[in-house]
Amino acid sequence: MLRIDIITIFPGLFEAFLRESMVGIAVRDGHLEVALHDLRDFTTDRHRSVDDAPYGGGPGMVMKPEPLVAAIEKVAGPKGPDRKAEVILLSPQGEPLDQPRVGELAQRERWVLVCGRYEGVDQRVIDLAIDTELSLGDYVLSGGEVPAMALVEAATRLLPGVLGNPESVTTESFEAGLLEGPQYTRPAEFRGHEVPEVLRSGDHGAIARWREERAQTLTRRRRPDLLRSRRGDED
Ligand code: SAM
Repeated sequence: MLRIDIITIFPGLFEAFLRESMVGIAVRDGHLEVALHDLRDFTTDRHRSVDDAPYGGGPGMVMKPEPLVAAIEKVAGPKGPDRKAEVILLSPQGEPLDQPRVGELAQRERWVLVCGRYEGVDQRVIDLAIDTELSLGDYVLSGGEVPAMALVEAATRLLPGVLGNPESVTTESFEAGLLEGPQYTRPAEFRGHEVPEVLRSGDHGAIARWREERAQTLTRRRRPDLLRSRRGDED
């Protein structure tokens, strides 16, 4: 069972996500437990404020340190070796999230996700309370909730017992440092486009070779960087 705590000002965004589809089934079947923490419950003022104007000027607002650090410490304990769980801030400045990192997180018992909003969080929150910053990619979203959902879903499908056929995980894109090649289902011919003969041949060796070759070709064309890191050379 994986337990994930999520700190957010929009817990309602997660309701349907945690109820529906594969994640919903994983929660119902006891593979995944997600606890939502409303950041506003950790404010102390009448307006339940979580943001303030940036020092030095500039557009937008910045998330205040007091409620965020209070929420993180309540959920995970103070930063340090005795902390109960790794605390991850979703941030465009973070390390890019990839499948190996998702696989590593899926093996843990527990982690905490912190969703930023506005122009981001006060740096002292990062210095005092965050263990890791992860980015979903080189673009800017309005909040960390969608990246948090992406991470939860990617990890959940790796939990033992969640996917009906565990083999579907090992043949997918990025698992072997390759993109997955083309896939087909019935009918055998659609608008003049036929399913490749080899896939209908029943020859499992030939099918495996064809799939590997197509995965290599696609990866070489679209993501040569994956092939380079697969070979172990960093350039
Ligand atoms: N001012 C920040 C910057 O330029 O890097 C962007 C802040 S963004 C509008 C608000 C919040 O959305 C961030 O604090 C973060 O939690 C989340 N966010 C936005 N884009 C993200 C991404 N690519 N990956 C992870 N989180 C992201």
